[in-house]
Amino acid sequence: MPRIQAARPAPRLVLPAELPAPDKDPFDIDQVFRLLRGATAGLPQAAMFALRDRGFASPFEQLVAALISARTRDETTIPVCLRLFARARTPEAMAQVPEAELAGLLQGATFPEPKARDILALSRSIAAAGAVPDTMAGLQALRGVGPKIAALTLGVGFGQAAISVDIHVHRIANRWGYVATSTPERTMQALLARLPERYWVEINERLVPFGKFVCTGDRPRCSGCALLRQCRQVGVTGHR
Ligand code: SF4
Repeated sequence: MPRIQAARPAPRLVLPAELPAPDKDPFDIDQVFRLLRGATAGLPQAAMFALRDRGFASPFEQLVAALISARTRDETTIPVCLRLFARARTPEAMAQVPEAELAGLLQGATFPEPKARDILALSRSIAAAGAVPDTMAGLQALRGVGPKIAALTLGVGFGQAAISVDIHVHRIANRWGYVATSTPERTMQALLARLPERYWVEINERLVPFGKFVCTGDRPRCSGCALLRQCRQVGVTGHR
């Protein structure tokens, strides 16, 4: 009788951040976040966090702002949201705004007409239900809401532990060698498994401005980077 052998679990990938490297310190995520706070102090905030700090922190406001921010620059998202919230700040009030007026208020953001339809549809759903859903599944059941918008709403609007991975978070976590992934979706799964929960919301808050001004997509500013001794600079072939 041939022996049946139990399948062996696949060996875990050793990440670059786990390996010793010349001229580098051991990668310490607590130290990385301490350094990130210093490196991003004084930089323009990501739109969701800037709006939160201006008092637009309710789950509904954060949900609408996250939807508007999709493929729209923070410098545009913030004034568009301020203009919109001066007109309506609750699902009941937003549901009453005529679609053409709403699209006009969204001018400057990308896709104002489709986003106006999405905002009207989700406002009506939430007004009928009586509350913004407080789960990933519930949020993603709303029109126009994907994982990134849902995670931002949970994290910033509800104060729940949720990771929102945009292109900055994806790029920088891979450059650190903290994850080794090919898509933002896989980065989110890797961070859910590896990043301490106390940093799940903050990673987006810190890495969006850090990615725009320091660890840029093209030629990151490694020479003056506060994280240089921690970061494994994976895939960085040229830098400033
Ligand atoms: S050292 Fe370079 S690659 Fe690493 S975080 Fe800093 S800027 Fe980005």
